[in-house]
Amino acid sequence: MDPKHTILAAALLTAGTLSATTIRPEKVKCGNCGEENTVTVVGSTNQMQAPDLDLRPGEMMRSTLRYQVTECKKCHYCAEDIGEKPESEAAKKAIARPMPGKGLKFRFVRAAEIMRAEAEAAGDKRDAAKKHCIAGLMLLRAAWVCDDEGKSDEAAGYRRQCAAELEKVIAFKEKQDGELPRGFALMLCDVCRRSGDFAKAERMARRVLNAKTREQRIAELQLELCRQKKTDRHTLNEISKPTPKK
Ligand SMILES: [Zn+2]
Repeated sequence: MDPKHTILAAALLTAGTLSATTIRPEKVKCGNCGEENTVTVVGSTNQMQAPDLDLRPGEMMRSTLRYQVTECKKCHYCAEDIGEKPESEAAKKAIARPMPGKGLKFRFVRAAEIMRAEAEAAGDKRDAAKKHCIAGLMLLRAAWVCDDEGKSDEAAGYRRQCAAELEKVIAFKEKQDGELPRGFALMLCDVCRRSGDFAKAERMARRVLNAKTREQRIAELQLELCRQKKTDRHTLNEISKPTPKK
């Protein structure tokens, strides 16, 4: 073979190998009941296509959705990692309830319910927000399963539940940092739009358009101080708590 062709062939083969999704079985002891489960773990994947506006990844990562939740075959604990112990009694109670149904969608729904119970039981607000976030992302994944099955009404229902969780995360982060978490807000915007809640989607989009970053507010403060010919000391406290834009 012409050496040029050999190199080209090697490059193509390598590209193919590097870009493939690899999965492997792994043994995991259930954090709730101790049962040993064999789960499928994604070793590597790629995103050759652009993600959707709700951040659903493009292919090939898009097709790893089914591996993003695991169910214990004995106690039906569902989570991204069932090796993690449920933290609260509320979560254990949620696990003790019967499965809402069979299949991937219900594994995401159940994982969301368990995580929502954890969030509501969490003492620390940051921890609660993180758990509401995970619950929301699990519900969004349930909506994606419905999208793939062509069940748009059901998908909209999960998106509305997801929006309720994401709103809690945004409220916490906004209070914490004094700034609208714009990435989250844009994701929520798309979740609302795709559930048919155009009014809320528009409000979110407008809030992002109007949101000022900390840097923008510092620059505005500096311009104002220059205008007033002030040379005195000022601190970040003056710009840390903006009025949220509706
Ligand atoms: Zn179990």
